[in-house]
Amino acid sequence: MTDERTKMEERKEGVAGYMQRAKEQATRNVEHFTEGMAAEMMSEGKLFDVAQEISDERLGELTVDDTTCGYCAVGCRFDVYTDGEEVLATRATDPEKSPVNDISTCVKGKFSYDFVNNDGRLTKPLVRDENDEWREATWEEAYEQVVEGFESIIDEYGGDSMCLIASSKATNEENYLMSKFARQVLGTNSVDNCNRLCHSSTVAGLASTLGFGAASVSVKDFEEADAILLSGSNTTEAHPVLATRIKQQVREGTDLVVFDPREIQMAEYATQYTKVLPGHDRAWVNGLIKYIVDNDLYDEEFVEERTEGFDEMVEAVQPFTPERVEELTGVPPAELESAAEIIGNAERCVIGWTLGITEQSRGTDNVTALANLAAITGNLGKPGTGVSPFRGQNNVQGGGGDMGPLPDNLPGYQSVTDDDLRAKFEDAWDCDIAPERGFYTTEMFLALEEGDLRGMYCIGENPSLSEPGKGHADEMLEEIEFLVVQDLFLNETAKYADVVLPACSFLEKSGTFTNTDRRVQKVNKVIERKGDSKQDWVILQELANRMGREWDYADTNEINEEMRSITPIYGGISHERVEAEGGVQWPCYDLDHPGTERLYEEEFNTDSGKANLTPVEYKEPMEQPDEEFPLTLTTGRVLYQYHTGTMTHPEEGIMKYNDRDFVEISPKTAAAYGIEDGDVVRLESRRGEITVPAQVTERIGDDVVFAPIHFAETAVNTLTSSDRLDPVAKTPEFKVSAVRISPVEGQEEIEYDRMEPISGDV
Ligand code: SF4
Repeated sequence: MTDERTKMEERKEGVAGYMQRAKEQATRNVEHFTEGMAAEMMSEGKLFDVAQEISDERLGELTVDDTTCGYCAVGCRFDVYTDGEEVLATRATDPEKSPVNDISTCVKGKFSYDFVNNDGRLTKPLVRDENDEWREATWEEAYEQVVEGFESIIDEYGGDSMCLIASSKATNEENYLMSKFARQVLGTNSVDNCNRLCHSSTVAGLASTLGFGAASVSVKDFEEADAILLSGSNTTEAHPVLATRIKQQVREGTDLVVFDPREIQMAEYATQYTKVLPGHDRAWVNGLIKYIVDNDLYDEEFVEERTEGFDEMVEAVQPFTPERVEELTGVPPAELESAAEIIGNAERCVIGWTLGITEQSRGTDNVTALANLAAITGNLGKPGTGVSPFRGQNNVQGGGGDMGPLPDNLPGYQSVTDDDLRAKFEDAWDCDIAPERGFYTTEMFLALEEGDLRGMYCIGENPSLSEPGKGHADEMLEEIEFLVVQDLFLNETAKYADVVLPACSFLEKSGTFTNTDRRVQKVNKVIERKGDSKQDWVILQELANRMGREWDYADTNEINEEMRSITPIYGGISHERVEAEGGVQWPCYDLDHPGTERLYEEEFNTDSGKANLTPVEYKEPMEQPDEEFPLTLTTGRVLYQYHTGTMTHPEEGIMKYNDRDFVEISPKTAAAYGIEDGDVVRLESRRGEITVPAQVTERIGDDVVFAPIHFAETAVNTLTSSDRLDPVAKTPEFKVSAVRISPVEGQEEIEYDRMEPISGDV
C-alpha cells in the first residue's frame, strides 16, 4: 500500500448507517453552497485553490493504489480509488509506471468492477449434501473432501490420472505454484490452461522459427513502424488501448494493412483492407512472400546474415501465385500485390495478429508463415519492426506460459523431456517428474473419455463454455470422478463440481502479471477479500500442506524469489525492480540485466542463432463447407464482454450495452435464407444446434457467419468440434466450422437464464 493510502471510516449498518449517510449528504450540501458563494466572491485563482483543497480533502477519505488491469493482456496500469469495499474510479497512473497505456484505459479498465461485490460472489466453500445439493462448508471441511478426493484417485490410478487447468487470470506467482502443485503434489504433467485454446499455435510457430514463443516487440515499436500488417485481429474490441495507439500512428502516416474475414473497425483506418475467407491464411501469407521475393523486395542482406533455409522456403511458396491465392482465400490479385508492395517497401514493419490466425487446425502453419514473412523482409530485431501476437487474457503470457503450467514445459519454457532441466526441478521441488509430457487441455477431455484421466482441479477457468464441442465437454464433466472448481462465481463448470473453493479477484491480491510484450508488472491489492474467499496461492499452499508437503511462503514475493532462482528468463525480475522500474521485460537473466525491450537484436534464440525459415505447405482446414452445411462459422469476442462472462455478466452497465450474443450474416446470405435483421435463427453444425438473434450486416462476407462466445444460452461452442486440433499445438479450430442456418418461425426472443446469486440459498 502507498503512504497516501488512508482508510475511510467503516460503513455502518441500520440507523448508524442512515446517520452516517445523512451527515455525508449534509457535508456535500454545505460544500455546494460554499462553492456557489465562493464563485461569486473570489478571484479565479483563489477559487482553484479552494477547489483543490476540497478535492484533496475528499480524496483523503479514499484509498488509492496502482495496479495492473485484470482483463486483457495489453497490460494497462492505473490508480484505483476505493472506499475500502468498492472500486469508485480508476485513473491513469504516473506514465512512468504505465508505459503501455500512458493515459488511456478502455471501458472494461474504467468501469467493470461491480462484479467484485456482486451478490453471486462465492464467499464460502461449497460441498454437496446427502441430496447432492450445495451447502456452505468451512474451509477445513472443504479441504478434507478435496484431499480425500484427490488422494483416492492418485492411490487407485496413479498421479498421472489427475489433471489441473490453471488460470491465466491469476498472478505469475500463483501459476508457478499451479505448475509445482501438479508435479509435486498431484504427480502429473497434465497441467495446462486457456493458452491451448488461443495462442499455443503462436508459441509453437514462433519458437520453432525464431526461438521464443512470444512477441518480439515492445508497444513503442508500433510508434516507430512505417507499416503495420494486422490479421485475424479485431483490435478495437479485443485490445482496445493497443488499437488506440495504432490508430494514432495511422493518423501520423503509418500504413496499415488489414486482412480479416470481417470488415472490423480497424479496416476504417486501414490503407488497405482485404476480406479473406476464414481458415486459409497461410495461403495469402505465402502469396505475399512469393511476390516479395519475385520482385526483389526482400532484405537480401538480412536473409544472408541472419536466416537459414531461405531456398527451401522459397521453393515451398512457388505454388502461391496471385490466382491460386484468390482461389483459396478470396483475396483479389491486385490487393495481394498492393499489400506486398506496402510491406516490401516499408523500412520498418510490425506484423500483428490474434486468434483469427491461431484458432485453426493449421494455426501453427499460419504463424510460421508470418514469421517467415517478417524474417525475409528484415523486420525483426530493429526499432519499429517485429512480430506481435496480441495475447488475450490479462496474464496468459506469464501465467499461461512463462510460469510453466504446461504439459510439456516447466517454468521458463524448460522442457520436461530434457533430463538435465527436469532434474533441476526435481531437485528444487523434491519430487519425481515424469519425462513425458502430459495431456494438453483439449486432449484432457478426450482422455477423460478414454479413462486415462479421472480427476480435475480447475482454477479460474470455465471449460463447460470455453472448450470446443460443448456437448462433449459437458458429458465429460458430468462423468468425471472428482472435480474441484476454484473461482469467483458458481460458473457453468462449477455446476458439475464436487467441491467449489471461493477465490479472490485480481483487485484483492498482490503479485505480478506479464503483458503481451513480455513486460512483468506489479499487481497490488486494492480492496479486502470478500467473505472467506482466499487468494489462489493461499489455497494451493494450504492444500499442498494437507497433502504432505511443507510449503511455507509468507507472500507472493517469496514465491517469486523461488521461481526466479530456477527460471533463467525471469532471473533478474524481482518484485522490488518491477515496482521501481514500472515493469521489466523478459528475458532478464540477473539483477544487473536491463531486461529486453526487443528480441533478436543480436541473434535468434535458436541453436544456430539464425532464424529458421520453414517451408509451409498448404493444407485445407479440417472441416470445409459442403452441400449439407454450406456456410463457414467463425467466432470471436465483443468489446463489452470478457470470455465466458464470469466478470462482465454481473456488471449492470456493461450488460446495458451488450447482454446477448448474436450471429452476423451478410445481406445476400440473409436474403437467400429469408432472414431479416433481429430474427431468431437456428444455427446447426454436425455437433449440435443453437438459436440466436441475427444481425444482418455488410461487414461479414457472403457464405460466412460470425458469432461471439460470451453467453451460455446461445453457447456457440455447441457447434465447434472437440477433435479437430492443430497437429502441433493442439489448438481447436474455433474459427472454422461448417454450419447451416434457418429462420425459427414464431420465436421472437431467446430465453435467458441469468446466473442467480447463490449466497443465502444454500
Ligand atoms: Fe484493461 Fe485491456 Fe482495456 Fe487496457 S485495453 S484497460 S488492459 S481491458
